[in-house]
Formats: sequence, structure tokens, C-alpha cells
Amino acid sequence: MRIRTLALAFLLSCLPAVAQLGAGSAPQAPAANSNSVVIIRAGRLIDTAAGQVRQNQVIVVRGNKIESVGDAASAKAPAGAQVIDLSNATVLPGMVESHTHIFLQGEDPKKGGYDQNILTYPLAYRAAKATVSARRLLEQGFTTARDVETEGAGYGDVGIKMAINDGSIPGPRLFVVTKALSTTGGYPLEGYAPELDLPKGAQLADGPVGFRKATREQLSNGADWIKVYMTHRSWVDKQGRLQSQPTLTLDEIKAVVDEAHGWGKKVACHAYNGIGMQRALDGGCDSIEHGLELTDANVAQMVRQGTWYCPTLSPYYYWWADENTADGKRDRARANVHGPSFQKALKAGVKIVFGTDVGSFEWTDPKSPIAMEFGRMVEFGMTPMQAIQAATSMPAEMLDMKGEIGVVAPGAYADIIAVAADPVRDVNALRNVGFVMKDGKVFKNELK
Ligand SMILES: [Zn+2]
Repeated sequence: MRIRTLALAFLLSCLPAVAQLGAGSAPQAPAANSNSVVIIRAGRLIDTAAGQVRQNQVIVVRGNKIESVGDAASAKAPAGAQVIDLSNATVLPGMVESHTHIFLQGEDPKKGGYDQNILTYPLAYRAAKATVSARRLLEQGFTTARDVETEGAGYGDVGIKMAINDGSIPGPRLFVVTKALSTTGGYPLEGYAPELDLPKGAQLADGPVGFRKATREQLSNGADWIKVYMTHRSWVDKQGRLQSQPTLTLDEIKAVVDEAHGWGKKVACHAYNGIGMQRALDGGCDSIEHGLELTDANVAQMVRQGTWYCPTLSPYYYWWADENTADGKRDRARANVHGPSFQKALKAGVKIVFGTDVGSFEWTDPKSPIAMEFGRMVEFGMTPMQAIQAATSMPAEMLDMKGEIGVVAPGAYADIIAVAADPVRDVNALRNVGFVMKDGKVFKNELK
């Protein structure tokens, strides 16, 4: 996403489209040696499917898959297996971050805001930083991420995914959307002299034909999901209400959704509130991103249609402008309506997934681990277990990988993490992930 807009000018060429990736396939990582057997002794194991914690479990990992999970007392240790002792820790499946921007390096107004990412960072720099972002996800226990657009870096996410999958760099299983879609006047760079031909942070199109063509282009170049901005600018009106500018018409979003669904792909829609939110829901968006202000009717429609909700609560507490300015009023209005919308959705049974919009805030900010979102989710009414499920079993279903990720169970990929404390008691324990295994390979173990 882009939280605010600033100004300056330059021209940027797009990354060359990377060779097609077999767009229909789920992300694949290089498998661990298929003969290797690892036994993990888990003091506590979070069963995300059942929403329960089991004591003293043994997990047998063969190659890159989980072979069995059972009580330590009755478990048989295969001969020659490597043993990883996490008997003093809480073990859970690798987590899923459902809203990231690995190509974005913060939108700090003091550093020039969003625009500087496009205006002053060469693409090679952006790609290099994206590899660091991918590593950060893994370090913090996120073994899968849905990266919801490159913000002007073209098809760079397809390239980063290739480098992760061939083992060149560490990173999570990536679901990529390439360029997001919006309308003319629906995304920055903007606010510059109209004579300048400046790049945009998204692919702009107009009309159902234009949007269908753009969707086809992206899918043919490796997009796993399609991302659409259904609202753009936001402000507070004279009555003190949050308003947001709608972008695509109903006909336009229907063309995108129809095309994507035909390819077996889903559509993630950035939508704050109002007309744009209504068109997103009527158009059949599969997930609503941010959803700052949901009416009762919006919530009921999401439940009826099975729409996913990725609220990204945390970034709306960042970089508030002075409260006496228009931007400052908007910043506070956004946060004020967001919590109640989340509570309403939770109560009604909307399917909620964990996402932070990391990238809109800096990946390397030590005060802002990705897991800070868990605290917000619990603050607004989730139990710690519900918040954990929002980052494991729930997104697995959204990503059509139920039983393969987001769960420690036989047949699943061996994406396993551990924390020293008990996150079911204090969800902030997830800020300090000490053990990470992805695809059967240990990435880090600080719990020895
Ligand atoms: Zn975003």
C-alpha cells in the first residue's frame, strides 16, 4: 500500500519481465534431502487446526515434509535421525504474513515518503533490499508471505521468488502479485507537473477491456494473485467522517475478478470504506485489504460471500501528521474507525488473516517487528489462539494450501518455528522467534 503522498521527479524504467514461472503452480522451494530424518521434541505444540496446545510431542520430519506427530511417550525414534530439542519451548507452524511489500522500504515523511522509493532508488538497489526483506520474514518466523505488489518495481517479485525457490537466497514461500492495478488518477506518483511523464507505483488501466488485458498480462508473467486498489485518497469531510475516493467501476472490477478466477487465481482488493468498498464486495473480490470502515451491511456481505479480511491494523498508528492539519485529522480518523470495524468483523465470523503492510514501515526498524500486529489483534478482541490461527491455518486456506502450510501435521511441509515463552498466554512472545525451519531445513536455532 501507500500511506501518504509527497513530491519530486525522475524517470524510471521497468525491470524486464522475468521468464514465465508456470503461473499455475503453488510456490515451490528446493526440498531438503528426501532421505534425511529429523526429530523435533516439542515441550508445547500448538495445534492450529484444533486450536489446542499439546504437551510433550515428537515431530518426525522426513525430507521437506512432516511424517508424523505424536506423544513423546509412545513415539519411536527412527534410527540415525538428527534430534532437535525444543522441549523447553512452544512449537508452532511457520507463520504466514498475508500483506507485505518486500520492494518498499518505508514511507517516512522525513525521508521523502513513498515517492523516494521510486524516484531515487535504482532497481538493483530495490532488488537487493527485497532480498533483505525476504530474509527478515524468515528470521521473524514467517515462512510464507503474500507480497501484494512491487510498488513500481515491475515483475521484480517474480524474480525474487525464483531466487528463493532455487535456493540462491533465503526467504519465505512467496505468493506474488507483480504490479497492483488502479485507474488513471488512482495511484502515485502524482502531484508533479502534468508535463512530466512519470512512472506509477501500480499499473493503471481504464475500462473493462483495459483491466482484463492488464490482468492477463500480469497472470501470464507470473502473478499468483491479482491486487487492485479499489479506493485511493482518503480525507475527513466537514462532518468529520472518513471519506475515500473510489477507483474502479463495478464493470471494471468484475472484469478483473472474472479473468483472474478463470485462471484459478484470486483477487486482493485494497479498500478503505464507502463506494469503493461496496464495489469491491459487489465485484467479488476475494480479500479485502485494510477495510478501515466496515458497515454492518459490508460485514454481512463478507460473511455471505466468504470474503477474507486482512486488516493490517499496525501501520495506521505510524507517522501521524500534526492533529491540527487535514492529514493529521485523517490519520486519527482512520485509526479510530479501524478497531471497531475489526471487532464487528470478528464478532460476525468474517475470516480474518494476519498482515502488517510491512514495507510501508521499515523492515529493519527494531521497534517494529512484524509480530507487533498480534498485540493489536488481541487488543481488539481476538484470543491469542485466534490471532495465531490468523497467521497460520486461516491464510493456508486463503492461499489454497490447507493442510500443506500453517499446520504441524503429517503431510504438511516442514515449516516449523518455536518460541521460548508461551504465546497462548502472551501473544507478544511471537516477537522473539528463536527457531525457524523451512521446508525441512533449519534456518536458525537460538533455542539450543
Ligand atoms: Zn499494502
